[in-house]
Amino acid sequence: MVLKPNILSGESPEKNISPHPEVFRAVAKAFSNMGATLSYGDSPGFGNPKSNAQRGGFGKVADEEGVAWADFTNSRMMQFPEGKVIKKFSIAEGVAASDGIISISKLKTHALTRITGAIKNQFGCIPGARKAEFHSVMPTVSLFSQMLVDLNLLLKPRLFIMDGIIAMEGNGPRNGSGRKMNLLLLSTDPVALDTVVCRLINLDPKLVEPLVYGEQFGLGTMTDIDFVGDPVEDFIVPDFVVNRSSKKTTTGTSFLATSFLRRYFFFIDTFKSEIFTKCGRCVEVCPAQPKALSWSGEGKSKPPVYDYAKCIRCYCCQELCPFNAIYVKVPLLGKFIRS
Ligand code: SF4
Ligand code: SF4
Repeated sequence: MVLKPNILSGESPEKNISPHPEVFRAVAKAFSNMGATLSYGDSPGFGNPKSNAQRGGFGKVADEEGVAWADFTNSRMMQFPEGKVIKKFSIAEGVAASDGIISISKLKTHALTRITGAIKNQFGCIPGARKAEFHSVMPTVSLFSQMLVDLNLLLKPRLFIMDGIIAMEGNGPRNGSGRKMNLLLLSTDPVALDTVVCRLINLDPKLVEPLVYGEQFGLGTMTDIDFVGDPVEDFIVPDFVVNRSSKKTTTGTSFLATSFLRRYFFFIDTFKSEIFTKCGRCVEVCPAQPKALSWSGEGKSKPPVYDYAKCIRCYCCQELCPFNAIYVKVPLLGKFIRS
């Protein structure tokens, strides 16, 4: 069985980007004690998967608990004729060869899907740069969300565990702030789990498109949820910092309207010049063809600039900037039209 923590980028656990390695340890111990043979891994948006896991503290725990590294670099094409929008996926060999996935996510915000939780964690089962291709061919939140649901229906993780002991609010999934919530959530239904997360952070779950399509496509339920454990009411954080301002981007929107929404409602704003480091990761990871980010000065003398006409609003640059220099703004016009 493969343990799939959402590692994203190998950072110190104190940054709250990933599930805490001690949560990973507890899960590994629990399944080892039941006799499971375990491996683990994740494919980040940038960098070497195993190095990221080592830097994030997962390698040390895995060594101590006898959990082997799974192959998240090579891939195998898996056919999925039942898929609503994607009929085949290139899946990490370590996942494709396993007899089950235990998905370990982090309770945190996400610029594209508002939260990144149980459903979105499986995106890391697609190796490296192939993930970026999905942003190009699924350039709306609706399509991207449907793809995520297809992916979950194909992979069918056996259990979804979420670390919400210290969650991330604000500029997630990488550069947000820690928020103590004292939560550990478990479910066999990722739609139910993420719906409960929405309730906990005072977010209308209908605004989270992977949930809407997850229920529509039969991945799980948003309404018929049985609770076991402490009462949810005791853990609600009404002022959790998350994007609640917009209506759901729906399918069936006309092409003209979709273009309009993407142009005026979603844009990546600016670089914080005082901490700008010219690392160039945002330019490197931009999946748009041609790239929507480029250097504006000779020899990287000035920050990269956006070409919004080319930008597909995938938020990869915001997600993967290691220095919190990129953030998302909803312009006044957008707020006005959405209200
Ligand atoms: S500029 Fe950023 S949001 Fe736009 S396509 Fe490139 S990576 Fe995605
Ligand atoms: S990824 Fe962030 S720090 Fe690096 S060049 Fe882009 S904006 Fe600057």
